[in-house]
Amino acid sequence: KKPVIAIDGYSSTGKSSISKVIAAKLGLIHLDTGALYRGVTWFALQNCLNDSGTIDLEKLFSSMDQVELEFKNIDGELVLFLNHIDISKAIRTTEVSDNVSFVAKQKEVRDFLLQSQRNLAEKGGIIMDGRDIGTVVLPNADYKFFLTASIDERTRRRYLELLSLGIEANEQQVKENLIERDRIDSEREIAPLKQAEDAIIIDNTTISKKETIDEILSHIRK
Ligand code: C5P
Repeated sequence: KKPVIAIDGYSSTGKSSISKVIAAKLGLIHLDTGALYRGVTWFALQNCLNDSGTIDLEKLFSSMDQVELEFKNIDGELVLFLNHIDISKAIRTTEVSDNVSFVAKQKEVRDFLLQSQRNLAEKGGIIMDGRDIGTVVLPNADYKFFLTASIDERTRRRYLELLSLGIEANEQQVKENLIERDRIDSEREIAPLKQAEDAIIIDNTTISKKETIDEILSHIRK
Protein backbone atom coordinates (compact mmCIF):
# COMPACT_ATOMS: atom_id res chain seq x y z
CA LYS A 1 0.00 0.00 0.00
CA LYS A 2 1.24 3.47 -0.84
CA PRO A 3 2.06 5.71 2.12
CA VAL A 4 0.26 8.65 3.66
CA ILE A 5 2.74 11.49 4.30
CA ALA A 6 2.12 14.64 6.35
CA ILE A 7 4.30 17.72 5.80
CA ASP A 8 3.78 20.61 8.18
CA GLY A 9 5.81 23.67 9.02
CA TYR A 10 6.19 27.40 8.94
CA SER A 11 5.18 29.58 5.99
CA SER A 12 7.53 29.49 3.01
CA THR A 13 9.68 26.59 4.13
CA GLY A 14 9.07 24.99 0.74
CA LYS A 15 6.41 22.53 1.91
CA SER A 16 4.34 22.60 -1.25
CA SER A 17 7.05 22.61 -3.87
CA ILE A 18 8.92 19.85 -2.03
CA SER A 19 5.74 17.80 -1.62
CA LYS A 20 5.03 18.14 -5.30
CA VAL A 21 8.39 16.62 -6.25
CA ILE A 22 8.05 13.80 -3.74
CA ALA A 23 4.54 13.05 -5.02
CA ALA A 24 5.85 12.78 -8.57
CA LYS A 25 8.74 10.51 -7.51
CA LEU A 26 6.62 8.15 -5.43
CA GLY A 27 3.45 8.25 -7.52
CA LEU A 28 1.34 9.93 -4.85
CA ILE A 29 -1.39 12.55 -4.96
CA HIS A 30 -0.29 15.91 -3.56
CA LEU A 31 -2.71 18.13 -1.68
CA ASP A 32 -1.66 21.68 -0.79
CA THR A 33 -4.12 22.35 2.05
CA GLY A 34 -3.04 25.99 2.37
CA ALA A 35 -4.65 26.55 -1.05
CA LEU A 36 -8.01 25.50 0.42
CA TYR A 37 -7.81 28.09 3.21
CA ARG A 38 -6.69 30.65 0.65
CA GLY A 39 -9.67 29.67 -1.54
CA VAL A 40 -12.16 30.27 1.28
CA THR A 41 -10.43 33.59 1.99
CA TRP A 42 -10.68 34.65 -1.62
CA PHE A 43 -14.38 33.77 -1.58
CA ALA A 44 -14.84 35.86 1.58
CA LEU A 45 -13.04 38.84 0.05
CA GLN A 46 -15.28 38.65 -3.02
CA ASN A 47 -18.60 38.01 -1.31
CA CYS A 48 -18.55 38.65 2.41
CA LEU A 49 -17.21 42.13 3.10
CA ASN A 50 -18.91 44.56 5.46
CA ASP A 51 -19.20 48.31 4.86
CA SER A 52 -15.75 49.02 6.21
CA GLY A 53 -14.21 46.60 3.73
CA THR A 54 -13.26 43.85 6.17
CA ILE A 55 -14.45 40.26 6.18
CA ASP A 56 -17.84 39.75 7.82
CA LEU A 57 -17.57 36.35 9.48
CA GLU A 58 -21.30 35.85 9.95
CA LYS A 59 -21.82 36.44 6.23
CA LEU A 60 -19.04 33.99 5.46
CA PHE A 61 -20.34 31.26 7.77
CA SER A 62 -23.87 31.55 6.40
CA SER A 63 -22.73 31.40 2.78
CA MET A 64 -20.17 28.65 3.14
CA ASP A 65 -22.55 26.18 1.47
CA GLN A 66 -21.89 28.16 -1.72
CA VAL A 67 -18.18 27.41 -1.59
CA GLU A 68 -17.29 24.59 -3.93
CA LEU A 69 -13.54 24.05 -4.08
CA GLU A 70 -12.15 21.56 -6.52
CA PHE A 71 -8.68 20.63 -7.75
CA LYS A 72 -8.56 19.76 -11.44
CA ASN A 73 -5.67 18.00 -13.05
CA ILE A 74 -4.55 20.18 -15.94
CA ASP A 75 -1.50 18.78 -17.76
CA GLY A 76 -0.34 17.08 -14.56
CA GLU A 77 -0.77 20.22 -12.44
CA LEU A 78 -3.50 20.39 -9.80
CA VAL A 79 -5.29 23.68 -10.37
CA LEU A 80 -7.72 25.05 -7.78
CA PHE A 81 -11.19 26.04 -8.94
CA LEU A 82 -13.79 27.87 -6.89
CA ASN A 83 -17.26 27.39 -8.28
CA HIS A 84 -15.68 26.43 -11.62
CA ILE A 85 -13.41 29.49 -11.83
CA ASP A 86 -9.62 29.03 -11.83
CA ILE A 87 -8.40 30.86 -8.71
CA SER A 88 -4.89 29.40 -8.60
CA LYS A 89 -3.28 32.76 -9.20
CA ALA A 90 -5.82 34.89 -7.30
CA ILE A 91 -5.12 33.01 -4.06
CA ARG A 92 -1.45 34.07 -4.10
CA THR A 93 -2.12 37.82 -3.95
CA THR A 94 -1.07 39.83 -0.89
CA GLU A 95 -4.73 40.60 -0.16
CA VAL A 96 -5.37 36.90 0.38
CA SER A 97 -2.10 36.38 2.28
CA ASP A 98 -2.97 39.24 4.62
CA ASN A 99 -6.37 37.76 5.51
CA VAL A 100 -5.94 34.01 5.31
CA SER A 101 -4.78 33.36 8.88
CA PHE A 102 -7.75 35.29 10.27
CA VAL A 103 -10.10 33.14 8.20
CA ALA A 104 -8.21 29.92 8.96
CA LYS A 105 -8.48 30.31 12.71
CA GLN A 106 -12.29 30.14 12.59
CA LYS A 107 -13.76 26.85 13.76
CA GLU A 108 -16.51 26.96 11.11
CA VAL A 109 -13.91 27.21 8.35
CA ARG A 110 -11.70 24.43 9.71
CA ASP A 111 -14.69 22.12 10.23
CA PHE A 112 -15.86 22.85 6.71
CA LEU A 113 -12.52 21.75 5.21
CA LEU A 114 -11.59 18.90 7.56
CA GLN A 115 -13.62 15.98 6.28
CA SER A 116 -12.76 16.39 2.62
CA GLN A 117 -9.06 16.42 3.51
CA ARG A 118 -9.46 13.19 5.47
CA ASN A 119 -11.52 11.56 2.74
CA LEU A 120 -8.76 12.14 0.23
CA ALA A 121 -6.30 10.20 2.39
CA GLU A 122 -8.54 7.21 3.01
CA LYS A 123 -7.07 5.07 0.25
CA GLY A 124 -3.46 6.02 0.98
CA GLY A 125 -1.03 7.24 -1.65
CA ILE A 126 -1.08 10.89 -0.70
CA ILE A 127 1.25 13.61 0.53
CA MET A 128 -0.55 16.49 2.23
CA ASP A 129 1.11 19.71 3.30
CA GLY A 130 -0.18 22.32 5.74
CA ARG A 131 -0.01 23.33 9.39
CA ASP A 132 -2.07 20.69 11.23
CA ILE A 133 -1.81 17.62 9.03
CA GLY A 134 0.31 15.49 11.36
CA THR A 135 -1.46 16.71 14.49
CA VAL A 136 -5.15 16.92 13.52
CA VAL A 137 -6.03 15.97 9.95
CA LEU A 138 -3.99 12.76 9.65
CA PRO A 139 -2.67 11.85 13.11
CA ASN A 140 -2.08 8.28 11.88
CA ALA A 141 -0.02 9.25 8.84
CA ASP A 142 2.76 6.80 8.01
CA TYR A 143 5.36 9.58 7.91
CA LYS A 144 5.35 13.05 9.40
CA PHE A 145 7.79 15.86 8.70
CA PHE A 146 8.00 19.36 10.09
CA LEU A 147 9.89 21.98 8.08
CA THR A 148 11.45 25.10 9.44
CA ALA A 149 13.95 27.75 8.27
CA SER A 150 15.12 31.19 9.32
CA ILE A 151 12.76 34.11 8.72
CA ASP A 152 15.20 35.85 6.37
CA GLU A 153 15.62 32.80 4.20
CA ARG A 154 11.86 32.24 4.10
CA THR A 155 11.29 35.88 3.19
CA ARG A 156 13.78 35.59 0.34
CA ARG A 157 12.04 32.47 -1.00
CA ARG A 158 8.53 33.91 -0.80
CA TYR A 159 9.68 37.15 -2.42
CA LEU A 160 11.23 35.28 -5.36
CA GLU A 161 8.13 33.10 -5.67
CA LEU A 162 5.87 36.15 -5.91
CA LEU A 163 8.16 37.72 -8.51
CA SER A 164 8.04 34.56 -10.59
CA LEU A 165 4.23 34.68 -10.44
CA GLY A 166 4.33 38.28 -11.67
CA ILE A 167 2.92 39.55 -8.36
CA GLU A 168 4.47 42.81 -7.17
CA ALA A 169 5.95 42.56 -3.71
CA ASN A 170 7.99 44.44 -1.17
CA GLU A 171 10.47 42.36 0.81
CA GLN A 172 9.75 44.06 4.13
CA GLN A 173 6.01 43.52 3.70
CA VAL A 174 6.56 39.90 2.74
CA LYS A 175 8.59 39.40 5.93
CA GLU A 176 5.96 41.05 8.11
CA ASN A 177 3.24 38.92 6.55
CA LEU A 178 5.16 35.71 7.24
CA ILE A 179 5.81 36.69 10.86
CA GLU A 180 2.21 37.70 11.42
CA ARG A 181 0.76 34.57 9.82
CA ASP A 182 3.06 32.28 11.79
CA ARG A 183 2.06 34.09 14.97
CA ILE A 184 -1.70 33.79 14.35
CA ASP A 185 -1.33 30.20 13.11
CA SER A 186 0.69 29.17 16.20
CA GLU A 187 -1.48 30.97 18.74
CA ARG A 188 -4.92 29.97 17.52
CA GLU A 189 -7.03 27.67 19.67
CA ILE A 190 -8.08 25.13 17.08
CA ALA A 191 -5.44 23.05 15.32
CA PRO A 192 -2.54 25.43 15.93
CA LEU A 193 0.64 25.22 13.89
CA LYS A 194 2.97 22.93 15.81
CA GLN A 195 5.08 19.88 15.24
CA ALA A 196 3.54 16.50 15.93
CA GLU A 197 5.42 14.66 18.66
CA ASP A 198 6.40 11.95 16.22
CA ALA A 199 7.37 14.29 13.36
CA ILE A 200 10.88 14.43 11.93
CA ILE A 201 12.08 18.03 12.04
CA ILE A 202 14.07 19.42 9.13
CA ASP A 203 15.61 22.89 9.25
CA ASN A 204 16.37 23.77 5.65
CA THR A 205 17.80 27.26 6.13
CA THR A 206 21.15 26.27 4.68
CA ILE A 207 20.26 23.24 2.58
CA SER A 208 18.78 23.25 -0.90
CA LYS A 209 15.36 22.11 -1.98
CA LYS A 210 16.93 18.98 -3.48
CA GLU A 211 18.75 18.17 -0.23
CA THR A 212 15.51 18.57 1.72
CA ILE A 213 13.77 16.21 -0.68
CA ASP A 214 16.59 13.65 -0.41
CA GLU A 215 16.44 13.83 3.38
CA ILE A 216 12.69 13.16 3.37
CA LEU A 217 13.06 10.33 0.85
CA SER A 218 15.81 8.73 2.92
CA HIS A 219 13.33 8.25 5.76
CA ILE A 220 10.58 6.93 3.52
CA ARG A 221 12.67 4.47 1.56
CA LYS A 222 14.22 2.84 4.59
O1 C5P B 1 0.51 27.00 3.00
P1 C5P B 1 0.07 28.44 2.86
O2 C5P B 1 1.12 29.41 3.28
O3 C5P B 1 -0.46 28.73 1.50
O4 C5P B 1 -1.16 28.57 3.88
C1 C5P B 1 -1.87 29.78 4.01
C2 C5P B 1 -2.52 29.85 5.37
O5 C5P B 1 -3.55 28.88 5.48
C3 C5P B 1 -1.62 29.60 6.58
O6 C5P B 1 -0.89 30.76 6.98
C4 C5P B 1 -2.65 29.18 7.63
O7 C5P B 1 -3.29 30.31 8.20
C5 C5P B 1 -3.67 28.44 6.82
N1 C5P B 1 -3.51 26.98 6.88
C6 C5P B 1 -3.99 26.31 7.99
N2 C5P B 1 -3.93 24.95 8.05
C7 C5P B 1 -3.39 24.24 7.05
C8 C5P B 1 -2.85 24.90 5.91
C9 C5P B 1 -2.91 26.28 5.87
O8 C5P B 1 -4.48 26.94 8.92
N3 C5P B 1 -3.37 22.90 7.13
